[in-house]
Amino acid sequence: MNIVLLGAPGAGKGTQAQKLVADYGVAHISTGDLLRAAVKAESKLGKEAKGYMDAGQLVPDQLVIDLVKERLQADDAKKGFILDGFPRNTQQAVVLGSELEDMGIELDAALLVDVASDVIIKRLSSRRTCKACGYTAPAGVDVCPRCGGEMYQRDDDKPETIAKRLDTYEKQTAPLVEYYSGNNILKKVDGDRPVDEVYADVKELLGL
Ligand code: AMP
Repeated sequence: MNIVLLGAPGAGKGTQAQKLVADYGVAHISTGDLLRAAVKAESKLGKEAKGYMDAGQLVPDQLVIDLVKERLQADDAKKGFILDGFPRNTQQAVVLGSELEDMGIELDAALLVDVASDVIIKRLSSRRTCKACGYTAPAGVDVCPRCGGEMYQRDDDKPETIAKRLDTYEKQTAPLVEYYSGNNILKKVDGDRPVDEVYADVKELLGL
């Protein structure tokens, strides 16, 4: 299973990815998680990426592309992978296509988790994330139900940045729906339903 997850921030891509990883043992490649880890570690990449992330903008393509290329070579990705948050624009999609071609790998699907923008705004503003494992839950959950870690509000889930991130999504990432539809691998699931209902449809769409 080699898939790309598409959808606005807060659509539930990470949640669906985590379920697929738990059930099928594929690698979860989340560029947002990788970048947040780099910021936390105060690495050169993290220092370069932080300003863009805080502003709700995309980090420059080359930084993210290098990160993904490296991650795709890792052993756990040999069983399959779920790309979550990458590609984020057409340039990244083109580079991914040629990288996978070089590796002799085909994408099985680009799965769009579709959620209306008013629902997204509500979800993101009340979203809390586990500091330790990245698990997400609505506000009010203070201890991570998965690992017991501390839940916090991501800086970019604060109202002033949410609007900017959604604008970035509409302008740069939404065109990928058409891009993958042209490749005949686009699948779409209604993400505005309970997690398990969405997941049942995801599995059916992916033929699992
Ligand atoms: P996410 O957790 O996917 O919402 O990503 C958080 C932030 O990381 C985004 O708002 C961007 O600043 C940055 N980011 C994540 N993935 C990418 C990507 N593929 N290209 C550029 N920037 C990215």
